Amino acid sequence: AATLYVVATPIGNVCDISLRALHLLALADAIACEDTRNTAQLLSRYGINKPLIAAHQHNEREAADKLVARLQAGERIALVSDAGTPGVSDPGAKIVDAVRAAGLNVMPLPGASAAITALSGSGLINDQFYFVGFLPAKAGQRETALRALEQIPATLIFYEAPHRIIESVQALASVFGSQRQIVFARELTKLFEQIHRCPLGEAADWLKNNAHSEKGEYVLLVEGAPSNADDDLQEARRILGILLEECS
Ligand code: SAM
Repeated sequence: AATLYVVATPIGNVCDISLRALHLLALADAIACEDTRNTAQLLSRYGINKPLIAAHQHNEREAADKLVARLQAGERIALVSDAGTPGVSDPGAKIVDAVRAAGLNVMPLPGASAAITALSGSGLINDQFYFVGFLPAKAGQRETALRALEQIPATLIFYEAPHRIIESVQALASVFGSQRQIVFARELTKLFEQIHRCPLGEAADWLKNNAHSEKGEYVLLVEGAPSNADDDLQEARRILGILLEECS
């Protein structure tokens, strides 16, 4: 039946695609994609040859109308982005919204996402995480955005472009202080994968001493704010300390 399949694709290692994703890509009448050359390359790796429809950041609304019309005509369409999960810091959400609003069927297929891959390899122990995605490029706006996250007691997940990594890390340290842990997850699933954890106070030095730090793709994870429970415990300890001093 007419369905929009939202298909996650690899974030580096071409093998990170599910059997079901490959099956549905091969079954679809057409594939809507962010960059037709990029997707054609992935498909050719798996011997799949399908009509491709460009659906990127700059034409997403128009593409959505076209896709809705094709679905209404009974077609099965797959939607992919350049890497990872469509709609996660990538085009796709407007298309899904339009297709759902038209009362048509949407089926998401799970797969790679850089944020979740980085989180699973970070070892930051917290039941909660907060996905921020890309920070604003301008320093003032970036600081405002970071201040708004300062009190959140969840692991914070950022995407960042390599040419902005140094200034972003400086901004993270200046807003969150030097004590919180940061995890750099660079080039995940690729040949030069690197996962490094250190206090924010040491992060700038680590970048400086890393010859390739301004190349490659990064996810940054920052330890969340200490929770209120921790504050309460510290306060109890402080009062206990005063009482013990009084008693001695
Ligand atoms: N839709 C994708 C997903 O589900 O993760 C994200 C697309 S977003 C335009 C691209 C950003 O994701 C990069 O700038 C980087 O921050 C992160 N990213 C993508 N692939 C990565 C990888 N292999 N290693 C580290 N970060 C990656």
